[in-house]
Amino acid sequence: MSLMDKLIGATVPFVPKPLVRRIAASYIAGETLEEQVLAIRELNSKGFMVATSILGEDVTERAESFEAVQQYEEALGAIASQNLNSNIHVKLTHLGLNLGKEFCYNNVKRLLETANSYGNFVRIDMEDSPTTDDTFHIFFRLNAEFENVGCVVQACLRRTANDVQKLTAAKANVRICKGIYIEPREIAYLGRGRIRENYAVLLEQLLTAGCYVGIATHDKWLVGEAFRIAGILKLDASQYEFQMLHGVDPELRKSIVGTGHRLRVAVPFGPMWYPYSIRRLRKNPRIARYVLQALLTR
Ligand SMILES: Cc1cc2nc3c(=O)[nH]c(=O)nc-3n(C[C@H](O)[C@H](O)[C@H](O)COP(=O)(O)OP(=O)(O)OC[C@H]3O[C@@H](n4cnc5c(N)ncnc54)[C@H](O)[C@@H]3O)c2cc1C
Repeated sequence: MSLMDKLIGATVPFVPKPLVRRIAASYIAGETLEEQVLAIRELNSKGFMVATSILGEDVTERAESFEAVQQYEEALGAIASQNLNSNIHVKLTHLGLNLGKEFCYNNVKRLLETANSYGNFVRIDMEDSPTTDDTFHIFFRLNAEFENVGCVVQACLRRTANDVQKLTAAKANVRICKGIYIEPREIAYLGRGRIRENYAVLLEQLLTAGCYVGIATHDKWLVGEAFRIAGILKLDASQYEFQMLHGVDPELRKSIVGTGHRLRVAVPFGPMWYPYSIRRLRKNPRIARYVLQALLTR
């Protein structure tokens, strides 16, 4: 982490709440399911698919996990009843991973059954490295039982090459991203160039193996690499999708869709926007830097 990022991270708790609200507003739909539904409808009308998530992580009470499952079920119900094009993605520590692997597995299983009944899909996000083994364990178990589940790999982690081998063997549905968490050098590549290069190699392996891939990035170079790889492999645009965060680089997402590719916008919502935003900004001040730049250039 650069000195500047450390400084930004240290000042995050002192940023006034209204400013955090303003920053969060460009990334999230709002606090309620009604606001989420409006955001999905608007994005769908512009030709984008959506990935809905509810803000929350690291819960310490079982009741909080049950509440999260229930909220996700309500979201799945609203998506179905209003004919919206959105799947959902979840963080396992929101669904009780810290309270027990079996407990968490059962919560995700319940969600998958509900999603299945609506013909919908659930992706399991990847969190920081202490959770990686448990997340893959739960994913592979569910992947053997359900067809509507996907996972995420992080190109910054050295272990991901091995994980990708297992995922390609299972023809899993995989989102690839760089990885948002700051991880130690022993287990992670730290250089931007090295992470990019690894991303492109892993993406090619996943696509070559016939996995459906969510290509999550706002990095124009990587978007170009994805176009190149898909072209060489002569893939149909239905065999993968691009994914971007709500509020980041609308020009890029328009240009991706304009070339006939599919793009899903990840839109989170929920009342926990304040503690969630502060934790995210503290954990990874690089995001705070991006946001600051975006605010200054608007
Ligand atoms: C749909 C989606 C799902 C994701 N899921 C996960 C996950 O499960 N686990 C995980 O560890 N990470 C996840 N990430 C985050 C990802 O790992 C990266 O941290 C993030 O996407 C930034 O990497 P980049 O590829 O966009 O490249 P970068 O080089 O970091 O960014 C390229 C450019 O995009 C802009 N940009 C990028 N991020 C932001 C931002 N937050 N705000 C404003 N501008 C920004 C900046 O202008 C930057 O120069 C996800 C990202 C997306 C898009």
